[in-house]
Amino acid sequence: MKKITIVGAGLAGSLLAVYLSKKGFEVGIYERRPDMRKHNIGGGKSINLALSTRGIHALKEVGLYDEIKKIAIPMFGRMIHTKDGDLNFQRYGKDDSEYINAVSRSELNKSLMDLAEKNSNIKIHFSERCCGIDFEKNEVSFLNDDSGSEKKMKYEILIATDGATSAVRMEMMKRPRFNFSQLYENYGYKELIIPADANGKFRMEVNTLHIWPRGSFMLIALPNLDGSFTCTLFLGYDKSLGRENSFEFLDNEDRVRKFFETNFPDFVNLHPDFSSEFFQNPVGSLMTVKCYPWIVNDNAALLGDASHAIVPFFGQGMNAAFEDCVYLNSCIDKYNGDWAKIFNEYQNLRKVNSDAIADLAQENFIEMRDLVADKRFLLKKKIETELYKKYPDTFVPKYTMVTFMRIPYSVALRRGRIQENILNNLSSDISDVSGLDFNFADKLIKENLDKLM
Ligand SMILES: Cc1cc2nc3c(=O)[nH]c(=O)nc-3n(C[C@H](O)[C@H](O)[C@H](O)COP(=O)(O)OP(=O)(O)OC[C@H]3O[C@@H](n4cnc5c(N)ncnc54)[C@H](O)[C@@H]3O)c2cc1C
Repeated sequence: MKKITIVGAGLAGSLLAVYLSKKGFEVGIYERRPDMRKHNIGGGKSINLALSTRGIHALKEVGLYDEIKKIAIPMFGRMIHTKDGDLNFQRYGKDDSEYINAVSRSELNKSLMDLAEKNSNIKIHFSERCCGIDFEKNEVSFLNDDSGSEKKMKYEILIATDGATSAVRMEMMKRPRFNFSQLYENYGYKELIIPADANGKFRMEVNTLHIWPRGSFMLIALPNLDGSFTCTLFLGYDKSLGRENSFEFLDNEDRVRKFFETNFPDFVNLHPDFSSEFFQNPVGSLMTVKCYPWIVNDNAALLGDASHAIVPFFGQGMNAAFEDCVYLNSCIDKYNGDWAKIFNEYQNLRKVNSDAIADLAQENFIEMRDLVADKRFLLKKKIETELYKKYPDTFVPKYTMVTFMRIPYSVALRRGRIQENILNNLSSDISDVSGLDFNFADKLIKENLDKLM
């Protein structure tokens, strides 16, 4: 059995360690930050995340789902907030059996670390920052952030789960023929908390993901266990996306207050003291990273955000990273110690699908911030629901394929585009779903789609 070195004890690294230890590997994880179970260091990016079928499948495989379920809040659909304060609920799935879950990033990460450390063959080393790799000597360097000392150590198998700005990937970039692209959105995000009311109760409907779509920007809110909501404002960095609608423009209290009162009046009623928080909290950046290959010398590989960072608009980054672990685990089963075959098959299976979810996530931003409030979009959603009822094995909504199924993301992307064309065709001449021409729908579906299941 080879020893495995994991760089990064975030969501993917901690989960992967559990998978590997179940197979009997000795695992050392090296994490840049101090232990988040002892130090209040915050989770990093978002405070809470949407966990769905792919991520749940992985948590079930390692036996952690029952525990996480206790801290997860089901969200059955989107609650759209109009400027006038009207609320409009759009269900995610076919019924209450299909929902996504709001989970605290830090609680999930801590539970994964606890589970990892229950195994005597896993050791997590904290405050150890990967600062270099010599892939020819199989040597990785770590800088201890407490002592300032640097050490080099040999690895047998190294897996990098050190996130979107991966240091290991940076080392891979120095090698010949490494493909890399990094695209920053001209959007940033800022988190604000709507606190619980005086009785510790939620101030809005709890079992939904709230969205205030405003065309070129949006506010969303996910519930937390303590009765609060974590709200995230996605807004352009600079004025190129609208003169008054940018973080750059919102540089003083008057402007911020006016912006929120104009665009999110019900939010202001729920959280009148938001503006000091607005200036305290940082603006996070959003990027898509694609790279290839993910493997060096058949003994080092990238996984999770390190190999495919995506924008958060389909709520799939962590779910995709967890699915990487599921696939790598099955490749380990299949190739019994042959790491060249294990890593190659893992990469072949995952690269095409991580590219697909990156594209799906970017498309979904337009849907969330703009289309969910658009009449034609809502008509197409109604037609989609009718077609799903009539052709449940063939016409499966894109959201369902991505969120409630484990079919490859690339299949969801391809079929989603075909279905979008069908919906455009069917909705072009009607203003209400009652006018849907089922004969035409039948013809289009038979011509363009085969059975999914
Ligand atoms: C605003 C926002 C909202 C999101 N919402 C969702 C959502 O709803 N659903 C969803 O599925 N995904 C969501 N995501 C995506 C999700 O956060 C990531 O896909 C997920 O965290 C990836 O896990 P990871 O373990 O690969 O990386 P990370 O969680 O980033 O973990 C990387 C770890 O590596 C450590 N590290 C970094 N550099 C080094 C180094 N040099 N040496 C050692 N350790 C290092 C870090 O400290 C960290 O612990 C969201 C992301 C953002 C930004």
